[in-house]
Amino acid sequence: MAPSGSRSIKRGCQRVLYWIPVLFIALIVAWSYYAYVLQLCIVMMMTCLCLFVFSVVYLLVYHAVFIMFVWAYWQTIFTKPMNPLKEFHLSYSDKELLEREDRGESQQEILRRIAKDLPIYTRTNSGAIRFCDRCQLLKPDRCHHCSVCDKCILKMDHHCPWVNNCVGFSNYKFFMLFLAYSLLYCLFITATDLQYFIKFWTNGLPDTQAKFHILFLFFSASMFSVSLASLFTYHCWLVCKNRSTLEAVRAPVFRHGTDKNGFSLGFSKNFRQVFGDEVKYWPIPVFSSLGDGCSFPTCLVNLDPEQPSSPTGSNPANKGAAEGRQFPSKPLRESQSRLLTSTPSWTESDSATDKDKKGASNPGMTIENEA
Ligand SMILES: [Zn+2]
Ligand SMILES: [Zn+2]
Repeated sequence: MAPSGSRSIKRGCQRVLYWIPVLFIALIVAWSYYAYVLQLCIVMMMTCLCLFVFSVVYLLVYHAVFIMFVWAYWQTIFTKPMNPLKEFHLSYSDKELLEREDRGESQQEILRRIAKDLPIYTRTNSGAIRFCDRCQLLKPDRCHHCSVCDKCILKMDHHCPWVNNCVGFSNYKFFMLFLAYSLLYCLFITATDLQYFIKFWTNGLPDTQAKFHILFLFFSASMFSVSLASLFTYHCWLVCKNRSTLEAVRAPVFRHGTDKNGFSLGFSKNFRQVFGDEVKYWPIPVFSSLGDGCSFPTCLVNLDPEQPSSPTGSNPANKGAAEGRQFPSKPLRESQSRLLTSTPSWTESDSATDKDKKGASNPGMTIENEA
């Protein structure tokens, strides 16, 4: 068989195997539904009518949490990760030019020329432009190549085997809600199952198979609660600091060195960057994150003395003329623009005096105005 044929078979097998953790979670959730609704609520309700009111209330709350949990999980799994826009891809002529050069420095020169027109602020550890050989593109800030998905993913957080998807710009809010609702789901089951769990050890439960479901439900829900609580707390901390998991492991490198707080704009703006600025959408797994995923306002660029002439290559004098073709090509949605323009400064300390100077919807340009 041709090597490419065996490679595609291997890839196909891998793809099937990647769904096993998701299937495992789905089976546990399905069993927990059966155990809680049928065995804990309905069977217990029939054995003792005094539990009727409790069981009805439990069932109502349980289903509300269950729907939100499954909805958020579904969204995290099936929301396609976003890839860099075509502006970041090398043109055919640039590709040819790059291939012709064999020296790293000459290639960097070409990449630097292309990067001048893009809102790229981060570099590699050695100060070079971040370039993905595999996708043939200049990596936008916070974008990383995922070896499992074999694609560059915008604001990549990590590749999660439990959702068989990359967690990044397009689904990070869903992932956070998935953690929140699954934790709530497990805590609710643990809390309401506790009374039956105690009865199990004091022989207060009728001798049916329901008692074993009740026992294992309590064990599994409390164990998952502990692990989910630690993961959720960690990601809450990341949201507050405006860091991805990858950035928490390795701080992003800017023109003047690494800075782990480079993208942090203060708690409120960091939170709204993920959840949006409309409170009604915060608890619902629909996309409401701000920005375009390719460019991010940073607090660091204000400190960069060379910022006015880079990275867009325009100086403040001819900025107006350049604005028409500046990144992003599509205007930001109104809700996005509000966050990015209504606030006077990207640094932690807001100064009201700068407010009137701002007008651009592009975060990169807003930063330039300030510099
Ligand atoms: Zn890539
Ligand atoms: Zn991935």
